[in-house]
Amino acid sequence: MSASEYNRIRRILFCTIHDPAKGFNCAFEYLDGYKRTLGVHGYTGLKAELNFYQKHGREFGLTVAGDMGEHADFAGSYGSQLARFDVTTNINFKQFQDYEPYMGSGPRYKIALLDQGNFEVIDVLDLAFPRCSCGGYLIPSVILLGQNYNRHGESTWTNDQLLVDVCTGCHEYFERNRFTHHGLLSPQEYFDGFDSQEEYDLAIQATEQHLVDAYKYFRREHSDYLMAVGQHDYIVTEPDGGGYWAINLSFVNQAVAQDMPDEIECSHEI
Ligand SMILES: [Zn+2]
Ligand SMILES: [Zn+2]
Repeated sequence: MSASEYNRIRRILFCTIHDPAKGFNCAFEYLDGYKRTLGVHGYTGLKAELNFYQKHGREFGLTVAGDMGEHADFAGSYGSQLARFDVTTNINFKQFQDYEPYMGSGPRYKIALLDQGNFEVIDVLDLAFPRCSCGGYLIPSVILLGQNYNRHGESTWTNDQLLVDVCTGCHEYFERNRFTHHGLLSPQEYFDGFDSQEEYDLAIQATEQHLVDAYKYFRREHSDYLMAVGQHDYIVTEPDGGGYWAINLSFVNQAVAQDMPDEIECSHEI
């Protein structure tokens, strides 16, 4: 399943719920129809979202967050405070309890943890992250790398993605995992697919959407409290083309944005 496909299905499901002629039952049926396309993580994640919305929508005053602007699954309120909610079934609860609660700025950010078997809410938690040895928070982020080439210099039509923790204190990054996908382009490659003269605005908009799609997809597939998506770029600083390689965090969830570096210098090969 591709990242954009995942978000397309999510939109269809919530449109179905909001259609008075259809509603939840119909949406759950559609969801089952997409089971194979979605794969186990995507399916379980969306089923949890639907259940949370159905059973707790009124209690938390939930509205479905759109793709842009809102970075959580739902907006609503918790107690008397505005809140954002992310829904998950598979954080490691034991491990999560050892993390340090993180209070960003803006609305509170809550994690609704649902049981994978019966989709009941187990708990509604505050955002929390492990600590770096420097005292900062380690924030999961995914870097969309450029196309892979074989030793003959031919494209293999795959891209790697690097799952890293970015520290809010020392701004170092720590590699956690590496994935390979077909057709998941880096933001720059995606942007370059448009005519930068004729379609500049469209290219910018579509690339932002590409980042959000990748964000939501990776959050479901590979890391449940992913907070940022980045790219690996050569930054030119000299007239002769001199510069340096850096990880650029192009998309950062508002919940942690104030503490994240814009870019992190790194080597050419990552
Ligand atoms: Zn650190
Ligand atoms: Zn994957």
